[in-house]
Amino acid sequence: MTETAPARARAEIDLAALRANVRSLRAQAPAAALMAVVKSDAYGHGAVPCARAALDAGAAWLGTATPEEALALRAAGLPGRIMCWLWTPGGPWREAVEADLDLGISGMWALREATRAARAAGRTARVQLKADTGLGRNGCQPADWPELVAEARRAETEGLVVVTGLWSHFARADEPGHPSIDAQLTSFREMLAHAEGQGLRPEVRHIANSPATLTLPETHFDLVRTGIALYGISPSPELGTPADLGLRPVMTLSASLALVKHVPAGHGVSYGHHYVTAGDTTLGLVPVGYADGIPRHASGTGPVLVGGKWRTVAGRVAMDQFAVDLGGDEPPVGDRVVLFGPGDHGEPTAEDWAQAAGTIAYEIVTRIGTRVPRVYV
Ligand code: PLP
Repeated sequence: MTETAPARARAEIDLAALRANVRSLRAQAPAAALMAVVKSDAYGHGAVPCARAALDAGAAWLGTATPEEALALRAAGLPGRIMCWLWTPGGPWREAVEADLDLGISGMWALREATRAARAAGRTARVQLKADTGLGRNGCQPADWPELVAEARRAETEGLVVVTGLWSHFARADEPGHPSIDAQLTSFREMLAHAEGQGLRPEVRHIANSPATLTLPETHFDLVRTGIALYGISPSPELGTPADLGLRPVMTLSASLALVKHVPAGHGVSYGHHYVTAGDTTLGLVPVGYADGIPRHASGTGPVLVGGKWRTVAGRVAMDQFAVDLGGDEPPVGDRVVLFGPGDHGEPTAEDWAQAAGTIAYEIVTRIGTRVPRVYV
């Protein structure tokens, strides 16, 4: 962490930590290739710099949800394999085929769009058929799988598609020992066996997200798709801290203290006066709010490090600012307020904010808004 005060707020992104996380994950899944999941602007960390850093450190694939995210990576010059999986009718199918993306396909309508785009582009579309093995979200149901596989096989023989992957996604990989994990694996193996029995020869079979990559080696197959772990965040407190998992947090969010003032006892703080000072004290103003992604649900609970001490959000988080009770201390205006970081300088972590807001750390980092500049260190 640098010690300079930010202008208003900034998110420092430690790309060396991201690279170290990629290396750590590869060592933990040595038989599999690694897909760096950089959707949602790399979980708020900045898609292009993070994608480059991940490839530098040995990731073989990039993954996004939407085709627009994947096309933006290609347009920024990112080479190699990029897969995207969240399609809607009318999406940029032809552009995706022309950009050599791998298209996640969850049903017949999507396979037909891919073949139509391949015909229009005069190229072969790379498709990866997604099985719903129990997540109950995107993906093809087991009952519909034979028809999807047969159609894909037919399209392969016409040279319109090549099935590069067969894949699925876990519902509860972050709950060690949960029976649904084995049930999904069994279903995945059955769906793979069926597809391969019908002549599909995928380059990659994959189901593991971060928690599965970190704790379930039997799920690694040919490729692991890691998102949250790349950014040095534990998928769940149940699995341990980032350090326990060989990871280092990548984002440090800080702001510059905007005001310090004395207030008397009984002073209401912020909208609704949900916090009232117990005695004469000092209040500090932190100039970030829910428009910057600071969760309003952390009103009264969110922790910050300021003047060497942990302080808690006093009253409500507003759109652009919140207050902390400094207990009579008077750190200078402009002092650095650290909302979260790796934790090794005494600052809170994204996991602490998740707990304070009753959510998951994924949401904390992903929602940090565009008004907060990312500074790559
Ligand atoms: N694969 C798919 C299909 C996803 O939607 C996601 C993220 O939700 C991931 C992989 C990465 O998950 P995680 O961030 O838990 O590693």
